[in-house]
Amino acid sequence: QLSERLLAVAEQVPEGAKLADIGSDHAYLPCYLSLQNKVQFAVAGEVNEGPYQSAKAQVKRLRLEGDISVRKGDGLHVMMPGEVDVITICGMGGGLISTILEEGKDKLEGITRLILQPNVTAHLIRNWLRRRNWKLIDESILEEDGKIYEILVAERGDDQEVYLDNEEVKMLVGPYLMKEKSTVFRKKWELEIEGWKRIIRSLEKAKQEEKEILRKKMELKKTIEMVEE
Ligand code: SAM
Repeated sequence: QLSERLLAVAEQVPEGAKLADIGSDHAYLPCYLSLQNKVQFAVAGEVNEGPYQSAKAQVKRLRLEGDISVRKGDGLHVMMPGEVDVITICGMGGGLISTILEEGKDKLEGITRLILQPNVTAHLIRNWLRRRNWKLIDESILEEDGKIYEILVAERGDDQEVYLDNEEVKMLVGPYLMKEKSTVFRKKWELEIEGWKRIIRSLEKAKQEEKEILRKKMELKKTIEMVEE
C-alpha cells in the first residue's frame, strides 16, 4: 500500500501520462501508477546505486519491466527527448528539487506538468517555477507519521494572477494553501513561527553573553591601568 503522501502525488498524475519519477528509490510511485493502468509508460530515475537496485528489484518483482524503465543517472538526464510528458520529484528538500529542475531545464521541452513534493523549503520551488515560466496550478498539504508535506503542481503558463498582491507571503506559504488555510497548514506555520521565536531568543542570549565578555574585558583594562600607575 502506497503512503498517503505518494497517493496524493499519484492523484495529480493525469490519466494516460508518460511519466518520469526522478529520485524514485523503490519505484513505488511508478509501480502503483502502472498497476492502476494510469500511466502509459514510466521512467524511474535514480542517481544512487542502492535505491537504483531497489527500484529494479521492485519492478522485476511486479513484472513491470515492459512498462517501467529503471535508469541510473543524475536528475533529468535519464530522460530522452520527447519520451515523457509528466515529471514527479518527491521526498526531497525544495533546494534539491529546484537544483534538479534548473540543471535539467533543457530536458523540459515537451513536459506539460510537474508534480513536486518537497519535504521542506517549498518556497525555493515556487521561486524557480516563477523564474522559469511555470504556472503553479494546485497545491496540497498533508500530515503523515508526524511529518508535514506539501505537493506543488505546475503547468506552463503565465502566473501573474497567482501572485497578485502579497507576493512575498504567497511565495513563502503557497498562494492556494494560504487561501484554503487547512488545519495542517495552520499547524505547519505555528510550528515554523515557534522555531523562529526560538532562534530570536537564542540570538538575543548570545548577544547578551557577548556583551558580558566585552564588559569584563573593559574591567580588565581598568585594572591594568591601575597597576601601571
Ligand atoms: N521519491 C521517493 C519518495 O518520495 O518516497 C524517494 C525519496 S528519497 C528520500 C530521495 C531519493 O532521491 C533517494 O533515493 C536519492 O538517491 C534520490 N536522489 C537524490 N538526488 C538525486 C538526483 N540528483 N537524481 C536522481 N535521484 C536523486
